[in-house]
Amino acid sequence: MKALTARAFVSVLVLVCICGWGSLGQGQAKRFLVVIDPGHGGWDPGAIGFYGTQEKDINLNIARFIRLLGLYDDEISIVLTRSEDIYVPHGERTGLANRLKADLFVSIHANAHPRHAAANGIEVLVHDDPNLRTYPQSRALASLLQKRLTRALGVTDRGIKHQRLFIRRAEMPAVLIETGFLTNPSEELKLRSWLYQWTVAQVIFETIKEYLRRQNAR
Ligand SMILES: [Zn+2]
Repeated sequence: MKALTARAFVSVLVLVCICGWGSLGQGQAKRFLVVIDPGHGGWDPGAIGFYGTQEKDINLNIARFIRLLGLYDDEISIVLTRSEDIYVPHGERTGLANRLKADLFVSIHANAHPRHAAANGIEVLVHDDPNLRTYPQSRALASLLQKRLTRALGVTDRGIKHQRLFIRRAEMPAVLIETGFLTNPSEELKLRSWLYQWTVAQVIFETIKEYLRRQNAR
């Protein structure tokens, strides 16, 4: 039964991809542009899980699902900083968003704790500088994502974190999402599942949309 459900899920995705590519190039201008940045890649695996899962792969899968959701949306276009297993320097990631004059920059990551295998849950990070022009919007987006993700996924709410991050170079509101702990075996198994990655992607996509609508309704 499980195998059947998984096969049905993959078939639907394949169909969606084929039809999606078919509808590309019709050139309809959308209202918002969001750059999604799958963290790490290539020689940089990011965190390594208890079962050997590499963070770069989880980040890329979630980002690809978000891009897929964007294909069918009338309002939001999604651009990825990398769509394959390559390393892209931080400056190029934010540089792309700046060149495209994106509305938002969202970096996707998975967490690791070197000593506590029990550490679990989601945290959304913002660059720790209240003087940054985009700080209030980044914080508002982080807070909404934190709330929506923890509720929808039923995971521990670790709160918003402030750190010195490369996303400060983005000229638009920017956040970094830690989607879970790869060093926690049960969380790692969840993160490896396509269905879970798809759900995470859906919540991120819908929340971004909600945030942009709210901002532009003001
Ligand atoms: Zn990372």
